[in-house]
Amino acid sequence: MTDSTSSYQERYAASLMNTFGPPRLVLTRGAGSHVWDADGREYVDLLGGIAVNALGHGHPALVDAVTEQLRTLGHVSNFFTTAPQVELAEKLLDVLGVGAGAGKVFFTNSGTEANEAAFKLTRRTGRTQVVAAEGSFHGRTMGALALTAKEAYRAPFEPLPGEVTFVPYGDADALAAAVTDDTAAVLLEPIQGEAGVVVPPEGYLGAARAIADEHGALLWLDEVQTGMGRTGDWFAHAASGVTPDVVTVAKGLGGGFPIGACIGVGDAGGLLQPGNHGTTFGGNPVACAAALAVVRTIEDDDLLEHVTVLGQKLRDGLAADPRVAEVRGEGLLIGLDLTADASAEVVAAAQAAGFIVNNPTPRRIRLAPPLVLTEDDVTSFLAAWPGILDGAIG
Ligand code: PLP
Repeated sequence: MTDSTSSYQERYAASLMNTFGPPRLVLTRGAGSHVWDADGREYVDLLGGIAVNALGHGHPALVDAVTEQLRTLGHVSNFFTTAPQVELAEKLLDVLGVGAGAGKVFFTNSGTEANEAAFKLTRRTGRTQVVAAEGSFHGRTMGALALTAKEAYRAPFEPLPGEVTFVPYGDADALAAAVTDDTAAVLLEPIQGEAGVVVPPEGYLGAARAIADEHGALLWLDEVQTGMGRTGDWFAHAASGVTPDVVTVAKGLGGGFPIGACIGVGDAGGLLQPGNHGTTFGGNPVACAAALAVVRTIEDDDLLEHVTVLGQKLRDGLAADPRVAEVRGEGLLIGLDLTADASAEVVAAAQAAGFIVNNPTPRRIRLAPPLVLTEDDVTSFLAAWPGILDGAIG
């Protein structure tokens, strides 16, 4: 580590709140799926800002869209609308498969805010209870935190709002036992990202839909991490054939420009009425132009197919090493279990070898690279993988 990196790390420690722990790197620029640090070292970015940089770094479509929109009209109040805002709402309903008129969108700046909007929307059913899953992560604001299971995140901030019950993820019987006629919504991630890419058994979302219907509850799917092409489909729930009432998205939607959305399908789209909710920046034209550029590039460059093919190649290659116990995920949201509690060592060894990966738990590694990851990036990572494990596990 040279002076440039360590000097920024010291200045960071002196001037930023210590909510994330010390930064591992000081990054200065990126191009495609690669980033460079303050000492000029290059890395293949296999984390993509945690499932955010869908088009990688510095993609011309995103840069041009943001630049042009900022030059034309950078912000308006919510007394007005703009073409990018309306077009993006229509596009989201289109890729969700419901179409304009069959759903409504509320724009936010982040995933946690999308979930706050959805949480408030559920209250408009006249019911107050939500059933969510153990292992869930829905954000850090007070409402989203109330819906998040992890005790270490919740405990310092209790009491939290809401009447939230947590059931084991993937267990349809436990869900059926917990949902009643007082349940406003069932809230699930189609794949749990922060838990380490946990995929539920086949049929789970369909069962959740049936259970919610039986009790007149909303089915709310948090696709903040899994949505917008990450799994090789526009939404991770698409393959299940289920139509949810509420979907929340963020992360990859803006490709790095902050934007989220709460989408209400059918009647759920009409639950929030004037005065019920608001935001100054949500739906900002620059953010909407960024998201439109992301969606159009995914379509034009056939990235859903690309993500499916590369994801499979990565999973197969990673699973080939005996120090990997299990590989999970869809598309380019990949989680793996090591045979030892050595995920921190793997992250460090990968970084030393020029690859950025993440460890959501002591035994789990997560990859969520840009959707524009190349074959060459996959080949170089898989070639380095056994050596990374040698350095970390032996
Ligand atoms: N929901 C899910 C499923 C997430 O993975 C995350 C972030 O990791 C959030 C919500 C919160 O999003 P944000 O960090 O943009 O507030």
